[in-house]
Amino acid sequence: MTSNVSDNRFTRLLAERAWLLADGATGSNLFDMGLMSGDAPELWNFDHPERITKLHQSFVDAGADIILTNSFGGTTYRLKLHNAQGRMAELNTAAAQLARAVADKSGRTVVVAGSMGPTGEIMEPVGTLSAADATAAFAEQATALKAGGADVLWIETMSSREEVEAAVAGASTTGLPVVCTLSFDTNGRSMMGISPSDFSEIEKSLSPRLAACGSNCGVGASEMVATIHNLHTAMGPDVVLVAKGNCGIPQYVNGSIVYNGTPELMSVYARMALDSGARIIGGCCGTSPVHLRAMKDALDAHTKGPAPSIDEVVGALGEISTGARAQWGGELSRAGGAAAGANLNRGRGRRSGAGSGG
Ligand SMILES: [Zn+2]
Repeated sequence: MTSNVSDNRFTRLLAERAWLLADGATGSNLFDMGLMSGDAPELWNFDHPERITKLHQSFVDAGADIILTNSFGGTTYRLKLHNAQGRMAELNTAAAQLARAVADKSGRTVVVAGSMGPTGEIMEPVGTLSAADATAAFAEQATALKAGGADVLWIETMSSREEVEAAVAGASTTGLPVVCTLSFDTNGRSMMGISPSDFSEIEKSLSPRLAACGSNCGVGASEMVATIHNLHTAMGPDVVLVAKGNCGIPQYVNGSIVYNGTPELMSVYARMALDSGARIIGGCCGTSPVHLRAMKDALDAHTKGPAPSIDEVVGALGEISTGARAQWGGELSRAGGAAAGANLNRGRGRRSGAGSGG
């Protein structure tokens, strides 16, 4: 089932290097390139491939070791919203091919990570999507991404145990390494109630285990560092942790979402994420190539030091939720963070469009 590990760019680079730089945002940067709210970014793999190539190239030029394909909403369930479900295979394969072409002419090893986001459906028993149907949808997306040249499958912005299990099972059918990150955006938990320590238990139950796991998107740089701290405490030093945090806090300005993070803030975030235990560090929504270059320079100039205290994180990056604070203090029961399922009604629609695709 698994391919020869030493042949895989991702596992090889992880073995060689102390840390890897993942790319920045896909969705928010595509909006800056003309994508309209409500459009399916995946259609651009055919309609505007040169823009996708340009975005990948700008992140590679900024120093990214890992670039994520423009396929976050590439399951048939998401594409159905745009009446494009019949193009699932070609859209995902094209996404991987575009990234592969940029990676292969970079002159160094650049990993192509096949991005896979949530289906947008609520899974059984709470919702209607069965585990078998979800697994099949993720498996066909993963197969198409592998066909286009993906080195690793990169499941992101997940929030429920059921969907994590389905996505990992589907991705694993390809034999490629699988990475999975959750968005811990609801008072220290995912919106479906998963805490970092819950995610640790889920990850241990997976077969095969994940090549890396962690957190993406969310509610700001300080919260991301706290999440990494809590994941590291729960998972231990042997698990490869991913931090792909948003570029500061989203703000609604003149009818659009802007992120308030500066390159300086993202530099501090990158160093604190490394010191807190992350080995793969990148940005999510709002993170431009300029931010990513600043993060790379900051990491290159930094020697991994002791993990920052909670006060140091707050002082440098801003406030941390009461839930994440409680978890940091060792409160791992339901009292640590939002109640399970507390924000279930946010499950549909909130992540429409490209927003949380990074
Ligand atoms: Zn994001």
